[in-house]
Amino acid sequence: VEVDPAIDEVIPVVDEQSKPKVYPEVPPEVEYLIVGGGTAAYSAVRAIRKYDPTAKILIVSDEAEMPYNRTPLSKELWFESEENAAVGKYKGWDDKERVIFHEKLENYCTGRELQEREGYGGTALLLGAKVDRLDADNKKAILYNGTEIGYGKVLLSIGGKPRNLPEFESVKDKVTLFRDLKDFRQLSEISQNGGNVVVVGSGFLGTELSYALADRAKKVENLKVSQICREQGVLGAVLPEHLSNYSSEVLEKEGVNIVRDAEISSVSQESGNISINLKDGRSVPADHVVVAVGVDIDHGLAERSGLEVDSRRGGFIVNSELESRKDIFVAGDAANFYDQRLGRRRVEHYDHAIVTGRLAGENMVGKRKAYTHQSMFWSDIGPDNGFEAIGLVDSKLKSVSVFAQPEAQNTEGDNFESRKFDKGVVFYLRNEKVVGVITWNIFGKMGVARRLLAHQSAEELNYAEMARLFNVHK
Ligand code: FAD
Ligand code: NAD
Repeated sequence: VEVDPAIDEVIPVVDEQSKPKVYPEVPPEVEYLIVGGGTAAYSAVRAIRKYDPTAKILIVSDEAEMPYNRTPLSKELWFESEENAAVGKYKGWDDKERVIFHEKLENYCTGRELQEREGYGGTALLLGAKVDRLDADNKKAILYNGTEIGYGKVLLSIGGKPRNLPEFESVKDKVTLFRDLKDFRQLSEISQNGGNVVVVGSGFLGTELSYALADRAKKVENLKVSQICREQGVLGAVLPEHLSNYSSEVLEKEGVNIVRDAEISSVSQESGNISINLKDGRSVPADHVVVAVGVDIDHGLAERSGLEVDSRRGGFIVNSELESRKDIFVAGDAANFYDQRLGRRRVEHYDHAIVTGRLAGENMVGKRKAYTHQSMFWSDIGPDNGFEAIGLVDSKLKSVSVFAQPEAQNTEGDNFESRKFDKGVVFYLRNEKVVGVITWNIFGKMGVARRLLAHQSAEELNYAEMARLFNVHK
């Protein structure tokens, strides 16, 4: 473990959990530079090393952790023992023990080792270091502390940063903007103290965290959970109304106070008690707030580097090969790319980070491949309800749902069981063509959905037949 004197104190590696410290010496120049150390970075490194086994790669990340998978931070880690959660261990859907880190620490080398190796390469990590801008003409990345690193090819895999709402600025010491492992640790600890925890936002993060916190409330006596939804229910911007309503009821059954159709007007604080005031006069008390209202892509980095962004959808504009300018690639959440089937898009999901990270890596070693493989995503509302999805899934699009009759004993009357949505599929349409599919409590069918998106034509819109492809009635 070496400490490079070139890295000043602004770049300490935080070592909350006694993990080994990584202080690689910064190489002045690398063949492959990866900015951001998340999932897209990991996937790109794998692809580069596959086609160029002697590649020398440097990952620069402003986080204190080596690349890891964020998806369990709002789900599985919450249901683990404290000891397991602290080191990122969790059980996957197949009951197998997993760890969030994409690679073991020993698979990385130090910056000095990277420079000294002859005839073979490796991947070095520079953690706690932030890239300020790229100098595209001179092929250099400039860090916040002024360090310059020359590159042959560079990947920007910088993800997104959680957005805040201006109303919460005045109470920011009681607000969590949730994105990384340290946020998980902080919120997990805060929730042990009980009180009113209010989740603002009805998207993926807010909904998954509400369930996780409600589960925690079964063990922490005075913990109460509310979720403020701008839409008519949770995931209202994604799911059709019937599924959003159903998912909201699932959360209510877990004890979450779902606040529907809520527009925040102001936030006040008196003797430490926060009140979130809504435009219609309602008010929600809070001891702690989790603001989960989406992410922003760092356009500052783009502006300082002279790279083009899409101000409407956000992100760095790249072509189908994920290239922004010659030798500058972008992948994951930050990429605003051209999908030959569905048009210009930006996607903020795990599999997309894997797919685009891999594609960028392949193109960085000269493959010249276009984005054609549709990525999928998934979400869970507790252990009994989950879905997988592909393409454009937006509640503003027309959609058709095909669901199996519930197996409930009593399907009469207006009780929760009788309205249960057990297994089904939702087709999202644009110009009478399927552009997105959700399979609800049906797993492993994304290959079928992918083929449907690629080949289906307007004349073939027979929903019952299409639903049969997904075994909805089995
Ligand atoms: P990230 O994984 O965010 O990595 C970007 C990295 O770059 C970060 O470490 C960041 O700190 C670093 N960075 C940023 N700027 C700089 C800079 N200037 N210099 C150096 N480093 C920088 N998706 C699903 O499909 N299913 C799920 O169940 C799911 N669950 C999720 C749960 C949570 C709690 C979160 C936060 C996300 C979840 N997602 C899920 C989304 C998925 O994790 C993201 O889409 C994915 O992480 C994006 O990968 P990325 O590499 O683009 O960005
Ligand atoms: P999101 O984009 O999924 O949802 C944002 C939510 O914020 C929307 O429901 C919207 O209604 C709400 N919102 C926006 N402005 C608001 C306002 N002024 N007042 C009230 N509500 C407002 O983002 P997220 O849920 O914050 O998730 C953060 C990131 O993490 C996203 O990139 C998301 O895709 C990712 N994530 C994904 C998963 C998954 O795929 N299963 C799980 C967790 C997180």
